Amino acid sequence: MIRQNLHCHTTFDDGADSPEAMVLAAERAGLRSIGISLHCPIPGEDDWCCAAENESKFLDTMHALRERFAGRIEVFCGLEYDLRAARRSVPPYDYIIGSCHFLAGCAVDNTMAEAEALIECFDSADRAAEAYFGQLTALAGFDEISIVGHLDLLTKYNERKPLYDTASPVYRDAAFAAMEALSAAGKIFEINTGAISRGWRTTPYPAPELLRHLRAIGGRICVCSDAHAADGIVCGFEAAEALARSCGFTEYQVFDGKGFVPAAF
Ligand SMILES: [Zn+2]
Ligand SMILES: [Zn+2]
Repeated sequence: MIRQNLHCHTTFDDGADSPEAMVLAAERAGLRSIGISLHCPIPGEDDWCCAAENESKFLDTMHALRERFAGRIEVFCGLEYDLRAARRSVPPYDYIIGSCHFLAGCAVDNTMAEAEALIECFDSADRAAEAYFGQLTALAGFDEISIVGHLDLLTKYNERKPLYDTASPVYRDAAFAAMEALSAAGKIFEINTGAISRGWRTTPYPAPELLRHLRAIGGRICVCSDAHAADGIVCGFEAAEALARSCGFTEYQVFDGKGFVPAAF
């Protein structure tokens, strides 16, 4: 059973509930630890990212929660970094998730219309996928980043409308190349169930064929819900564990306050 979630959001960014409500939900769900991952401030994106002036308050809030819940549930303070933030240094977070929400000025997953516009921007889904996975690979150069967020976010709407042919050699080669470079750089890949709780998907990211390749190259995984509300705090965790096991994984990575260590399912 999965006992940790390091990826969720609160009213400090685009989440619906307070950090306290998320920690309480995690405790009720039986987690041993919970990490809240703030959307890194990005100029002009305050509608879904943390406003820069609120970042220190977030850090203070999380440190207070950590002390208040000591002995009940461990509380970690994380950051979901986006390459568009272009920050050279980040304040002292416990861990950092690296994600790619923008490509060539287009939002990757904000709405289906924007996802379609992204493909038009590149003339084809294959070319958009090549660009996306190529950009994601840049996360390998950020030593501070431990976790790669929602690896194949491009496919968020595929169950409603198959925007990407994930079986195409171009898509597959681009995804595999990114995984190999990021894994070689020591990055952990999250199994992310966020699109399940929001009703867009019935299965977690990444796709099974990507996870099987990750397993074959000795890659590491963790499991995150990317919850934007307290009632989604462990949404899809059983499906995530079943997916990981079916792809050959017997363990997942857990942050212990200093670094990542393996835990058996
Ligand atoms: Zn994200
Ligand atoms: Zn997120």
